[in-house]
Amino acid sequence: MSLITYLTTIRFAPGALAELGDDLQELNIRKPLIIADVGLERAGLIDRLRNVLPNGSDVPTFTGTPTNPTEGAVLAALDLYRSRGCDGLIAIGGGSPIDLAKGVALLSTHSGPLEGYAAILGGIPKITAAVAPLIALPTTAGTGSEVGRAALITLEDGRKLGFISPHLIPQRAICDPELTLGLPPALTAATGMDAITHCVETFLSPRFNPPAEAIALDGLERAVKNIERAVTHGDDAAARHEMMMAALEGGLTFQKGLGAVHALSHPLGGLKQVSLHHGTLNAVLLPYVIEFNEKNCGPKYDVLRQRVGIGPGANLADFFRNLNARLDMPESLAAMGVPRVTLPSIAESATKDHSSATNPRPASASDYLAILEAAYEGGSLHAST
Ligand SMILES: [Zn+2]
Repeated sequence: MSLITYLTTIRFAPGALAELGDDLQELNIRKPLIIADVGLERAGLIDRLRNVLPNGSDVPTFTGTPTNPTEGAVLAALDLYRSRGCDGLIAIGGGSPIDLAKGVALLSTHSGPLEGYAAILGGIPKITAAVAPLIALPTTAGTGSEVGRAALITLEDGRKLGFISPHLIPQRAICDPELTLGLPPALTAATGMDAITHCVETFLSPRFNPPAEAIALDGLERAVKNIERAVTHGDDAAARHEMMMAALEGGLTFQKGLGAVHALSHPLGGLKQVSLHHGTLNAVLLPYVIEFNEKNCGPKYDVLRQRVGIGPGANLADFFRNLNARLDMPESLAAMGVPRVTLPSIAESATKDHSSATNPRPASASDYLAILEAAYEGGSLHAST
């Protein structure tokens, strides 16, 4: 069965932040908790948010979101939510604060532990409409979490698991491209490559969902045309506008399922030895997964070539490799600091990730290990197998 749903309400415009008060009223949120991180505080974005809220200076704020959200941080934010008598959440930031807020919205109304709600452990039907209301304000153009039904959270034991339900989609997304104008070039590149990977992987997913495919291709085209401009000229409002729409479109297409890039980047992002950025991981892995999937994706690769503007038969993996190089992305997993010794267990975890089932070519642990080893060294998958 194809389950096709586009559910949430999105405000998309430069300056849309100013309409946050209307959303709070419509959702009947009187005592919101802001979920953010210290980087946002330093960048002055929390002050900008407070300035548009009634009694903004009194609104409690949790800034302890880690780079990859953890169960511990969800519980700490939940404590603050309960102790301040909150009745809804405002998440501002990249994917991490938004995913963390989804975890708080869930546990504020559903009894713990968090693990019981993980998709891979049969938790999807346990998540009900009782989830607390959440308004998401992305400040990066990448994750799409503002319109997505998933939250990725690392449990205390190190497993990075997906929590998936239509009830976890924020009730409102406020997409204000002005909030991304100050995003540094490296983060613009990494988050933008995450958006590109969402569009590519969902387009290639074998599930039948033509609306999602059309959205994914539109997002891919916008992102490929604008990512370099957004990185080199961060104050270009038009490029930021297009990147934010591409990220939103990537998020809308998640429902079709991701693939091997995300099946690998999820466990890599859960490593305790090193903190790795989700978008950078996806950028590095994407060319290798494109090579791995090629024999199962012939006609679809022709469509991708056309959308990214390369000729028929041109090497699609090399297109993304070259784009990575122009964006100053690391050349390999080794360059990112991934410990080589972790690769076999990452490959094993990838087979259990919820994104693995929708990769267009079934991948075993040894397939994942081959992809990881090639991406560890740099070069190409075919050169190393
Ligand atoms: Zn992603």
